[in-house]
Amino acid sequence: MRNKTILKSAEISIGDFLKIEPMLGVVFYHFVQYAVEYDLPVVITSMIDEAPNRVSSTHNEGRAIDIRASKEWTDLHTVRVCNKLNELYARKYGTAPAEKKPRVIICHDAGTGKHFHLQIRRNLILFK
Ligand SMILES: [Zn+2]
Repeated sequence: MRNKTILKSAEISIGDFLKIEPMLGVVFYHFVQYAVEYDLPVVITSMIDEAPNRVSSTHNEGRAIDIRASKEWTDLHTVRVCNKLNELYARKYGTAPAEKKPRVIICHDAGTGKHFHLQIRRNLILFK
C-alpha cells in the first residue's frame, strides 16, 4: 500500500540527513512513524539552513527540522504528535527559553506558515 506521505522540498538534499544531530534523527523518525500510521504528509521545509539572517542557530547547527503543518494535520493530530514526542524525549533532549518546559517539538507560525519545529538541545552526549 502506498500512502501520501512525502519528503519533498527544493532546498533539501538527502545528504542533509548526514549533517543533523543523530538524536534529532530519532525524533524525526518517530514523527514520520506517526505520519505513516495516519497517512499524513511529511514535507520538510527547512533542515540545514546556513542563511546568516536566521534568528536562531538551531537550523545551521543541525539541531532543528521544520515540517509543514498542512491541512491534513488537524488540531487533534497536531496535539497528539506533539504530546507523544515531548513525553518521550523532551526531558532528556528538549530545549526551551528560560523558565519554560523543554520541548522537542512545537507547532507554530513564525511568519512562514504553520509548521512543526523539531529541535534538540545543544551539546548532547548520546552515548555515555
Ligand atoms: Zn524551525
